Amino acid sequence: MIVVFKPSASENDVELVCEKIRSLGCNPLVMRTAERISVHVEEIPGPEAGESLKRLRSIASIDQLIMLAKPYERIAAKDSPGTVEVEDIIFGGDAVVLIAGPCTVESEEQLFASAECVARAGASVLRGGAYKPSTSPYSFHGLGVAALEMLEEAGKRFALKVVTEVMDTRKVELVAEHADILQIGARNMQNYDLLREVGRSGMPVLLKRGMHARIEEWLLAAEYVATSGSERIILCERGIRTFETATRNTLDLSSVPVAKGLCSLPVIVDPSHATGRRDLVGPMSKAAVAAGADGLMIEVHPNPEDALKDGAQSLSTEEFEKLAPELKAVAEAIGRRIGDPVPAA
Ligand code: PEP
Ligand code: MN
Repeated sequence: MIVVFKPSASENDVELVCEKIRSLGCNPLVMRTAERISVHVEEIPGPEAGESLKRLRSIASIDQLIMLAKPYERIAAKDSPGTVEVEDIIFGGDAVVLIAGPCTVESEEQLFASAECVARAGASVLRGGAYKPSTSPYSFHGLGVAALEMLEEAGKRFALKVVTEVMDTRKVELVAEHADILQIGARNMQNYDLLREVGRSGMPVLLKRGMHARIEEWLLAAEYVATSGSERIILCERGIRTFETATRNTLDLSSVPVAKGLCSLPVIVDPSHATGRRDLVGPMSKAAVAAGADGLMIEVHPNPEDALKDGAQSLSTEEFEKLAPELKAVAEAIGRRIGDPVPAA
């Protein structure tokens, strides 16, 4: 951070500010030019000291503060990209992780048919909503605990990890008993109590980008989770609201390399909610892998026409099985893989 003083500031004003900076455990370095004095503060010891330093802004002799440090220190980019391990599944490594399954768990039959298909096609994580955020209060809101139990059972049967959304701070413990990864949906990306609660659980967290959120706000939401106790965070781009109405949302694919450049977390893409259209899920999935996404989350239903939610954007099991090898080819073209390592010849 750089503290720039007004031209009228006296040596005494500068010394008073330097004392405050020292009291926060920082080392002020005074720079003098013909016009003004500024003080450089390097190595801010933590976010609390950072917040206290920002309050210097109200001192009359100070003209402006220039913040150099990133506001999200815990998750900020490190020398090498970070990985998130969920037992044997690694996000952010060589493999592009496929997460697939129905929008919402509707029945055992529907869930198990989806799970069997996605496991066979190379997915390693099963998705499925038990508690659904719905725009309309009249819509289906999920089967709750019964769905959590089915997800756990299907995960075990087909050797898949399970991700499902939690919307309520009071349900974090319950959902964590049945799932391997807790999903925070787009609508809750800025529900800070919920972010803190999932962080406290220590569970891996899949954090969707809010539909109106800038990348920095998304990363700050991840910082909430990280500072509350879980650094195993996977970011998920799921499209943002723009003026365009041809698609449900606008897939901001550039957020993948942007977020990966700014933080050390893996970034995956959800082309289903991003487009809202089954015909666009394949092309956007391939584009996401080519752009460096560490995984994909794709909605799959054994019979999309009959789906209770998001049928228009769900792939049939046959469509998913056809897409998976195409995704593998794109991953291999950029030196990555989907599924097990290719055995040496
Ligand atoms: C979902 O993945 O089921 C979902 C509701 O997505 P989003 O939060 O991105 O709308
Ligand atoms: Mn959905």
